[in-house]
Amino acid sequence: MLIGGEWVDAASGESFGTVDPATGETLCEVPRGTAVDVDRAVAAAREAYDGPWSRIRPNARERLLWTVGELIEASAAEFGQLESLDNGKSAVIAEKGDVARAADLFRYYAGWATKLEGRTVDVSMTRSAGGEFQAFTLREPVGVCGLVVPWNFPLLMAVFKLAPALATGNTVILKPAEQTPLTALLLGELFEEAGFPAGVINIVTGFGDAGAALAGHDGVDKIAFTGSTAVGKKVVSAATGNLKKVSLELGGKSPNIVFADADFETAVPGSVNAWLSNHGQACVAGTRLFVEDKIFDEFTAAVAEEAAKARLGPGLDPRTQVGPLVSQEQLDRVTGYLAQGAADGARALTGGGRWGERGFFVEPTVLVDVRPEFSVVREEIFGPVVCALPFSTRDGLDEIVHAANDTVYGLAAGVWTRDLSRAHRMSRRIKAGSVWVNQYNATDFALPFGGYKQSGWGRELGADAIDLYTQTKAVNIAL
Ligand code: NAP
Ligand code: MG
Repeated sequence: MLIGGEWVDAASGESFGTVDPATGETLCEVPRGTAVDVDRAVAAAREAYDGPWSRIRPNARERLLWTVGELIEASAAEFGQLESLDNGKSAVIAEKGDVARAADLFRYYAGWATKLEGRTVDVSMTRSAGGEFQAFTLREPVGVCGLVVPWNFPLLMAVFKLAPALATGNTVILKPAEQTPLTALLLGELFEEAGFPAGVINIVTGFGDAGAALAGHDGVDKIAFTGSTAVGKKVVSAATGNLKKVSLELGGKSPNIVFADADFETAVPGSVNAWLSNHGQACVAGTRLFVEDKIFDEFTAAVAEEAAKARLGPGLDPRTQVGPLVSQEQLDRVTGYLAQGAADGARALTGGGRWGERGFFVEPTVLVDVRPEFSVVREEIFGPVVCALPFSTRDGLDEIVHAANDTVYGLAAGVWTRDLSRAHRMSRRIKAGSVWVNQYNATDFALPFGGYKQSGWGRELGADAIDLYTQTKAVNIAL
């Protein structure tokens, strides 16, 4: 683990194995950090924050971030392979997608470091003596930030937080998911190589108790969490001790809505990508596929046919499109949902169970004959499973708007139509942080990203993330 510029073991000396999901075999051991290690990391982050990091000029931060982006790009193949080994996803897809985007994101926020501004305010008040005031705001970092991330996009989810947090002058403690600690550790080496002062970035590997220690720590000023809604609620409770700032990116059960007038040829692969991308282990996955009744049978058959063509295999095979799920636990969870769905009366147009005997693979699965109350429709499965439901537009848009919003989540939504007015109306009426029209899942770094309802608090990416990692001070001077 990286604490205060030193590569260290856990204070307890304990470690845990991280597993290759394609084989179920242990890749290597990493330190099992606990609350004691979190204490050390928080102390190191505080020292760096009060010391050298506070004196670094914005253009120096800009250069440091830019350099990390370049270093990631130069090691893209290594990062892709390591992400594949640890998480199971295709190494090629990881390199061209996750890793390339992580490098871009550092460069995007490098530019922000020199563009943070306060403002002057012409206040109305006067002093009894008739004197004037000079008032302005300062935009300052929040301080020591705990960053807790999940296993589905291990590198990219860490960078969503690291890049804006560092651009704005915070120091950080990163806690990767226990299933996928390896690319975070590799990234730690690049921070050192880039020349970040010791203690600015600390990385503590471990289990949920290490995340909980960060969330509850009095020395942490902000916690940025990506993960499940259930754990997000625990983070909120733990944060009440010192009322640290909290931002949350949580789960989803996003609607992907296909109207009968949609361009069939693009909507079919687009709708498969919506739920099958990253093997369905995506918070934004479009796992409730609503199809207008007039084209329901034809469209769902085409989606099933397309999904059945996806090539399954280990992530290190360059031909692989769909890799294994991340862990035995996720395999059990997803196949458990499939069994429950079948018992409830759902019918699989394709897939429906585990694939192969070795590794944690699940067949891409398209379920029909589902009802809104089924657990497969209501709950986040986090695997390659979509539920297709028909809808009618005979009485306008109310029916589909109601069905789409009938969830505790509100992360994303897709709308496929050639009717411009309907696209705009749907965009307004859907309660979700991102609405994608005639595409699914193109997240640009310049756009805010986050959830309505129980999908989260706050917005990452774009200019909005600057707000997440800064606070405003009002200064008012009697002249
Ligand atoms: P998770 O179980 O909630 O874990 C997320 C992170 O929190 C892990 O690092 C985990 O450590 C840590 N953690 C566990 N218990 C904790 C506690 N009490 N306090 C603080 N941290 C704790 O989620 P996951 O299973 O890894 O990831 C899947 C979930 O993440 C899905 O629900 C998905 O929708 C969501 N997700 C959301 C987004 C988004 O942007 N909205 C993006 C990706 C994923 P351990 O791994 O050691 O348990
Ligand atoms: Mg977990």
